[in-house]
This record gives sequence, structure tokens and C-alpha cells, in this order.
Amino acid sequence: MSMKAQGVISRKAGAPAELEEFVIEDLGPGEVLVKILASGVCHTDLFVKNGGAGDGFPFLLGHEGAGIIQEVGPGVEKPRKGDFVILAWRAPCGICRFCLFGQPNLCANSLNAKPRMRSKDGITLNPVLGIGTFCDYTVVHANQAIPVSETLPAPQMSLIGCGVMTGVGAALYTAQVRPGTSVAVIGCGGVGDSVIQGARLAGATTIIAVDLDDRKLEWAKGFGATHTVNSSDGNAVEKIKEITGGFGVNYSFECVGRPVTLDIALWCRDLAGICTIIGVASADMKIELPMQKYFSLGGSLRVSWYGDCLPSRDFPLLASWYQQKQLDLDGLVTRLIKLDETEEAFHAMERGETLRSVITF
Ligand SMILES: [Zn+2]
Ligand SMILES: [Zn+2]
Repeated sequence: MSMKAQGVISRKAGAPAELEEFVIEDLGPGEVLVKILASGVCHTDLFVKNGGAGDGFPFLLGHEGAGIIQEVGPGVEKPRKGDFVILAWRAPCGICRFCLFGQPNLCANSLNAKPRMRSKDGITLNPVLGIGTFCDYTVVHANQAIPVSETLPAPQMSLIGCGVMTGVGAALYTAQVRPGTSVAVIGCGGVGDSVIQGARLAGATTIIAVDLDDRKLEWAKGFGATHTVNSSDGNAVEKIKEITGGFGVNYSFECVGRPVTLDIALWCRDLAGICTIIGVASADMKIELPMQKYFSLGGSLRVSWYGDCLPSRDFPLLASWYQQKQLDLDGLVTRLIKLDETEEAFHAMERGETLRSVITF
């Protein structure tokens, strides 16, 4: 027996996404139906809507969500009906070459539900990152739904599902920031501010926020930045070196996905510093690498996907840190909006007015 739901569907690259009714088919083995309570509006949804993720239209947008398990498919023992869950876009399969090697954070065959959602004109919907959360109900694999305490607020918990985990995890797991070190974060949106919090939790003592927008820099201080650099005059590397006694930082994080910000992140490092790329670049972007300068500086360049997290381990951890007031998620929720206001939320994001708009129901 199928059911009706409504969600924000993107049918054509660059065109506005619209609220439409769609049909959800019966659950298969290992699948769960989730009633969405909150969903953050992440840059990746805008990227997908603009055609950045290729031609898989129509997309059901949204991939940063929290909700209640409404129904479980055959064979599902966990989570249970009624559990409050955060949705993960990676659910390690346990049997691919990386999982078998003890690196489930790199799982190459992440578990998803089968395509269960169809538009009212009969086309199979492609949920963003295998989730789809700009909707009242969605279907995911049981392992993608991570239970956390039901006493926690859904808007704040939804952000753990993507942006917050990506940023905090990049600091803790990808770069492995050590106590007493210095960090520069280039690009201070929701992910960058989460890197700042991750660096603070790891015990970094100098945390430099870099952005073009003074408003973003002011917010970054609230999350733990000890210094700020407005990069609009093009001298960010010099300013970061000044702050760090002329040396540069031990860890830099690129959170934008552009050549100009990667350039700052590469060259603001001290000797043997670690540069971590989080921002997603578009296909045409390139950098020039002066090989001798790069070699002489030493260190490493890493890419962080999803903060190298394990959702089953890390979502409850981040939820606990929120509960203990070590992780500020309230400050990331800039606006609460309704499902039919997502286009306006994308515009506000492009204007830099928000860290996160969160859809609630
Ligand atoms: Zn995201
Ligand atoms: Zn795997």
C-alpha cells in the first residue's frame, strides 16, 4: 500500500525547486519510513539544484534531517518505531574493500534504501545523497537512521546530520588537531564554524577565522575563534603569519571550494602543517602548484569527506556534547522556515545572511 507525501523537488538545473506531492511505495527489507521533524538547508542542496551533481533530475532535495521512525520494513530490529533519529548520508556496508580493511569512514558502497519515491507524474525521484529531507516523509536504509535522545530539539539535531559533523569531524578525525596548536579556518559558514568548534574541543589555543564578511567573522568568534582576518584585501596569508609570530598555523581548513581560498589554506601553514580541504569545488576549477615551495613546506594536504565520521559512533557523541553545552548548535540555527520557503532560504544563503535556515513542520 503506497502513501502520499509532499516535498521540495528540483526538476531542472537552475530552475526554482517546487513543493509537490509525491508517492511513497511500500518499504523493502532493511528500510525505514521517517517522519521528518526538521531539515537544515545545506549548500549541497543548492549545488545539486544548480546542476552541480549531474543530470539525475528530478531530485528530492534535502539531506540534513532529523525525525521519528514511523514504520520499519521487514527484518529491521534497530531503529524501532517511534525512535528519534538523525539521518546519515553514509551507512558503512561492512563488506567493501575499505570496510573490510577497518576504514568504514571511507566505505565505497554505502547503504541506501531502494528508490521508493515517485513524482505524481510517475517519475522515480532521486533523493539528495540518498536521503531527501525537504519533505514530510522519506525512506532510508535502517543503518542511515541513528537514534539519539528524544529530549533533544529536532532543528539543532538535524544539523549534526551533515554540516556540523563534516566540520567537527574534519578537525577531530581528518586533521586530528592536537592540544596547544594553531588553526586557520578559511570560510566561516555553518561548516567552517563547526571546524572552529571542533578545533576548540580538541584544545587548539589559536583559532583564526578567515572570511570576506565581517558579519560571519563576528559569528565565528561566538563559536570559539580567537582571532579574525577579513580576507577581502588579499593579504590573508600575511595576516595569519603575523598572528602566529611569523610562522603560520599548524592546521588550515579550506571550507569554500575555490582556488583563491585553497591558496590561502596552503600557504598560511607553518612547516609540516596539515591542510584539509572540505569545500566542494566545481569541475572547471584548478590551482597552480609551485612544487619546490610545496615540498619545502612539508606537511600534507588532505581531503575530508563527511569529517571522516562514523555516524553510529559520532552522532550520539555530538548530541551529548550539545546537551553538555560543549557544542553550540543553537547559534547555527539562524532561521526557522516552512517547507514552502526553501527557495527564499537558498537566496538568503547566497546573500550570506544565514548560517543555517532550518525547515520545521
Ligand atoms: Zn550538506
Ligand atoms: Zn563498505
